[in-house]
Amino acid sequence: MAILNLSTDVQKFLSEPKKLFIGGEWVEPSSKSYFPVENPADLSHFAQVSTAVEQDVDAAVGAAKAAFEGEWSHVQPQERSKLMLKLADLIEADRENLAQIISLENGKPYTNAFHGEVTITANIIRYFAGWPSKIEGSTIPVSPRGGQKMLNYTTKEPVGVCALIVPWNFPLSMCAWKLGPALATGCTSVLKPAEQTPLSAIRLAELFAKAGFPKGVFNVLTGFGDRAGAPLAAHKDVDKIAFTGSTQVGRLIAQAAVGNMKKVSLELGGKSPNIIMPDADIIKAAKGSADGIFYNQGQVCTAASRLYVHESVLDQTLEELAKHAASHIVGPGLDPETTMGPLVSQAQHKIVTGYVDKALNEGAELICGGKVPSGLGDGYFMEPTVFLDKQEQACISKEEIFGPVLTVMSWHDVEELVFRANDSPFGLAAGVWTQNLQQAHTVAARLKAGSVWINCWNVVDPASPFGGYKQSGWGREMGKNVIDAYTETKSVFIDLSE
Ligand code: ADP
Repeated sequence: MAILNLSTDVQKFLSEPKKLFIGGEWVEPSSKSYFPVENPADLSHFAQVSTAVEQDVDAAVGAAKAAFEGEWSHVQPQERSKLMLKLADLIEADRENLAQIISLENGKPYTNAFHGEVTITANIIRYFAGWPSKIEGSTIPVSPRGGQKMLNYTTKEPVGVCALIVPWNFPLSMCAWKLGPALATGCTSVLKPAEQTPLSAIRLAELFAKAGFPKGVFNVLTGFGDRAGAPLAAHKDVDKIAFTGSTQVGRLIAQAAVGNMKKVSLELGGKSPNIIMPDADIIKAAKGSADGIFYNQGQVCTAASRLYVHESVLDQTLEELAKHAASHIVGPGLDPETTMGPLVSQAQHKIVTGYVDKALNEGAELICGGKVPSGLGDGYFMEPTVFLDKQEQACISKEEIFGPVLTVMSWHDVEELVFRANDSPFGLAAGVWTQNLQQAHTVAARLKAGSVWINCWNVVDPASPFGGYKQSGWGREMGKNVIDAYTETKSVFIDLSE
């Protein structure tokens, strides 16, 4: 096992306790307390990070509010674009360091951190850098009851201070999904990264500070959900919350928002159905389906975790899936050979191994994997695992696992298939593998999911909306849709009658 050497920049970055980023300054947490960040590959504690509490939340929200009402409100759209492009360039220039930091704190393979997070993050910021000069209102032909000549137009105004609360599975790109539109629309933000992966957000703040934005436009509070996330979500001076995480915490966020009627967007869990039609290119479908569940150790809200395979191609598909699972090299993310890193934490590892035990007890048939690989020390590793649950009885076919565990089910009738695919409290993503165009469009139209992928999986683009039906969330991120989530629309009437 040859582990990549950390760059001198990363070594330096990790050598000092990390402070909070408030009002453009690095400040000590008011608690004076720091918590360790654990490397999930070897359980070592490799950095110390500030524990933010309510006073820090007040300070950060205060700084964001002052910036929103002050200097940031005078920055012209083109200048906002320029600053954002500068930030994207800085992210790109720091890509090796960022990817090392992400791989260390999250466990994912370095190359996936590099391409799947850092490059994507720079691209997201660049996409949104194009928006500031394009956020337009309209003039509307109204018909006043009194017959007056009336001019009516709308403007789009930034909603204000945004709380960005993000999870650990994509620690950097999840920040960009929210920071991008916040900056583009002229909002200011307070980011609360996940306690498991706070370092990439801190590194992002360092780059942000270099880009030249006014102080307070972006603030970062590291800490825990109860002591930092909850007071941020409830804060009276926060105007909007953008949250990605579990459905359970999403509910708490929605409740916390009620106090001052914050705008809320939620990107929550999933148990996404992936369908293989009898006419599909099975080699391609099995590869895509395996990648759809095993990417990022299965810790993806859109993981292709329910695979419905037509009975006529079930055996061949299972064989191919087992081959793909076996081809993974499980190991530390910083080993260049690794294609599947550890799970993020002991808690997550316990959940995933618990589901495997439960599936076996409930009679699901283990096709491959299912064990904690040996010889890798104490890290939170897990084999890529495939179960067959023909009767769709086991809870692994219903509940979100957030790990590299695929449940395969067979089907024979399209009507029944569509019912089963939609029979879930979630509705984030779905997929269809087929060579029949008519079938592809017809089934896609009937699937209740925010993203439908035909002959592909996990294709996400900053220009295209992303979000969930049902308990998978509220609203859409990215694309032009997200601009509405960060703006208020004002309708202005002017009586032009003589
Ligand atoms: P996961 O289950 O993927 O760990 P969570 O939904 O628990 O995701 O956490 C996502 C984010 O929400 C993290 O930044 C976490 O600290 C934060 N969080 C957890 N509980 C709360 C809460 N009660 N209020 C606000 N944020 C919270």
